[in-house]
Amino acid sequence: MSATLNEPSRTTPVIHEADICVIGGSCTGVFAAVRAARLGASVVIIEKQNAFGGVATQGLVNIWHSLKDTEYKRDIIAGLTREVIERLRKRDAVVSHDDNPNSAYLLNTEELKIELDELITENRITPMLHTSFALPFRKDNRIEAAIVENKSGRGAVRAKFFIDATGDGDAAARLDLPFTLKTHVQPPTTCAKILGTEGIDIAGLIGKHREEYDLPDDWGWNAAVVGLPGGKMHAETHVFDVDCSNAEDLTRAEMEGRRHVRAYMDIIRKYAGKKPVLADIASYIGIRETRHVHGTYRITEEDVLTGRAFPDAIAFGSYRVDVHHEDRPGITFRYLNGNENIFEKGKGWTNGRWRPETASDPTAYQIPYRTMLQDTIPNLIVAGRAIDADTGSYGAVRVMVNMNQTGEAAGVAAYLALNGNKTFTGVDPAALRSAMEQGGSIML
Ligand SMILES: Cc1cc2nc3c(=O)[nH]c(=O)nc-3n(C[C@H](O)[C@H](O)[C@H](O)COP(=O)(O)OP(=O)(O)OC[C@H]3O[C@@H](n4cnc5c(N)ncnc54)[C@H](O)[C@@H]3O)c2cc1C
Repeated sequence: MSATLNEPSRTTPVIHEADICVIGGSCTGVFAAVRAARLGASVVIIEKQNAFGGVATQGLVNIWHSLKDTEYKRDIIAGLTREVIERLRKRDAVVSHDDNPNSAYLLNTEELKIELDELITENRITPMLHTSFALPFRKDNRIEAAIVENKSGRGAVRAKFFIDATGDGDAAARLDLPFTLKTHVQPPTTCAKILGTEGIDIAGLIGKHREEYDLPDDWGWNAAVVGLPGGKMHAETHVFDVDCSNAEDLTRAEMEGRRHVRAYMDIIRKYAGKKPVLADIASYIGIRETRHVHGTYRITEEDVLTGRAFPDAIAFGSYRVDVHHEDRPGITFRYLNGNENIFEKGKGWTNGRWRPETASDPTAYQIPYRTMLQDTIPNLIVAGRAIDADTGSYGAVRVMVNMNQTGEAAGVAAYLALNGNKTFTGVDPAALRSAMEQGGSIML
């Protein structure tokens, strides 16, 4: 048994009071905060990094997928995702490939940080950067405050409603709410912006020399960086066998991920005779998956791939099922039209079908509000990648254009609960959908 200490009990100052407290400030969290603030709520947002945006900024992941259905005929996503794309466009900070299933929008991640700051300021949201959520302060079955730690010490943010947008379901886990943490989660990647890698077969070089550099048998991808000629965002490797909701594993993953970046740059130097320049490395490892907080509904792969309609649908998507394997190097893609592509290192691609041909195919899927709800703590909702989803459905819903919508739904639901003196489970899904639509979201 590990040693323990008994901390003296203490009095914690209440440093902010608001209607709504958003914990975690990726686009999911910021969009939740903005939607609630625009409806008239006072909002505090807590983010442990030095900027908002999560994986989309600090993780350097610069691709948002299509806002249209799989046939590129119908708009299915708008809201703050569309608004931010248009705002970035004014600064030449986005490049659109409207009908490209891999990368509809390439974003300048640094401009996105500033855009999110502006959204926070314009909407009079109280920002707390460099601030970690530590614990919920519980009174009866509700959260009364979020206990946070930052440069000034420990403090409490008191609010009526809380949105857990930490990606890892940190607030829910600290409340001992049940969650799923699979043995095989999608593995994380440390992303890097590198200059001077154009025309180099990085995957081929890594494959050939990985043993010399102690790199896993793996695969990866890269994308152009907006406005940086010769610059690419590289996600070339994965760190396997780590649980990024565990502090020790997370530390190991961070250092191992950075070591991978150095290793493949050294391979390029030695075997391609080039001099790549490391322009930027993600300020934290890109975490694909950790906890899924048990919701009142778990979305399934079948729901996604058959385009099942839900009366409480609050988010819509067309991005394929995309599961990075944890147990063997490779990836599985499944599409709404029945096609399937599986890549396995050493075997290459196997292209087939996961179901027989049908007369027509769904062109979009829906995410129900219930994936964000639990019925134990009435003033807490989960948004972002910790929502309740099985392996296959999560492979699709996890992308940012989808997660952003869960944030918007959480913000609007929090306002409706506040205004109507309700709990999150008591919010009428029809009223939520209608309020979301009035605020600029598309509801199918
Ligand atoms: C390497 C990689 C590549 C990917 N590629 C793509 C892609 O090309 N396109 C795409 O759309 N999706 C991609 N994804 C998936 C997508 O980026 C994520 O699923 C999505 O961003 C998750 O959003 P989120 O808001 O739930 O979580 P996150 O973006 O992880 O945000 C969580 C936020 O909460 C903060 N936080 C966490 N804990 C605390 C705490 N205790 N206190 C305070 N703050 C806290 C974090 O700092 C962070 O800002 C990729 C993911 C990875 C890792």
